[in-house]
Amino acid sequence: MAHSNGWHFFMNPGPTNIPDRILRAMDRGTLDFTGAAFKEISDECFAGLQRVFKTKQPILGYAATGHGAWEAALVNLFSPGDKVLIVESGYFSLNWGLRAESFGLEVETLANDWRRPADPAKLEARLRDDKNHEIKAVLAVHNETSTGVRNPVAAMRQAIDDAKHPALFCVDVISSLGSFDFRMDEWGVDVVVVGSQKGLMLPTGMAFTGVSAKAIAATAMAKLPRVYWDWRRLLSGDPRQGYWNGTAPVHFFYGLRESLRMLEEEGLENVFARHHRLAEATRRAVRTWRQNDGPEIFATDPDGQSDTVTAVLMPDGYDADAVRTQCLEKFNVSLGGGLGHLRGKLFRIGHLGDLNETMVLGSIATVEMALDLTGVPHGRGGVVAAMEYLTTGA
Ligand code: PLP
Repeated sequence: MAHSNGWHFFMNPGPTNIPDRILRAMDRGTLDFTGAAFKEISDECFAGLQRVFKTKQPILGYAATGHGAWEAALVNLFSPGDKVLIVESGYFSLNWGLRAESFGLEVETLANDWRRPADPAKLEARLRDDKNHEIKAVLAVHNETSTGVRNPVAAMRQAIDDAKHPALFCVDVISSLGSFDFRMDEWGVDVVVVGSQKGLMLPTGMAFTGVSAKAIAATAMAKLPRVYWDWRRLLSGDPRQGYWNGTAPVHFFYGLRESLRMLEEEGLENVFARHHRLAEATRRAVRTWRQNDGPEIFATDPDGQSDTVTAVLMPDGYDADAVRTQCLEKFNVSLGGGLGHLRGKLFRIGHLGDLNETMVLGSIATVEMALDLTGVPHGRGGVVAAMEYLTTGA
């Protein structure tokens, strides 16, 4: 039985903590979603999202989870039999591919070690080989939430350009946007997919796609059936989303407006620096636990270690879910589990969204106690290592 005193520490890599300011902003009466007052709020939100996406191109919203925005990208861009290249990074990248397969697309997977970031040179070589340009799009996940590996999106764009390949570049930024650097226009991303419940600190249930002119042009050729997701309908001649299917989720927009104000008050660069600091503190702790053949950071390449989630790989023979259960049931701290074939092999500490040093230290201390309680070998002093980093920055 989970205990109920004090705060529940929700340290999954999404959904994330919803700040009181956002909860309070949503705590109001209904507004006519067809009226001018709502239009003003929604315009402020889409303009704010453009600044966070770092784009001047349209962003479209849906009442959906990230899975919905994945699907929107597929049905708006492709026709049955079209070929797409999935850059493998982990559970989420492969899942996007499975969905593409369900829609009758031909899916090729660019295989990659889940512990390392994608290799742009490998992407370039595969695209150079595709002389007839059969590959219509490259689909990748910026931050693979299942592994804690960050992919080099700018270098992947460069690889596509160096191969002189016309494929669309579609990137899932579900666990990176608003937490670490992403630049839709500068990095030449054609379709950007995100949900509300991570860096944007909102409840789960809204999703967005940023769409380039090239992506909108591809929409006109795509033959997969679509109604709710149809970008042409949503745009309806307006450079911002001019049309909403059904009732607009007004309360989400109240929350989103507050979230965007919070991100901009803190300053995106400061938000990114905070995420980096908290991530590094977490990594210092895990590196300390690694002693005595203890758990280790799943992502092996320091350049690819995510600033929003650290996946912690257990030593052979030890169950990650036993550690998670101790954390939750004894200490009221919830961690993410391993996904797919990594179930039971790793746990994931989310360090994104509305989070500070104390919350991270509390969670690390809890994991350290749970390692003790479950008899997992580990180096002692992970919390001290994190504290030293947070106080000295070195
Ligand atoms: N892609 C990534 C990278 C994710 O982390 C997630 C969820 O955690 C998804 C896609 C799926 O998003 P949702 O759960 O909102 O459908």
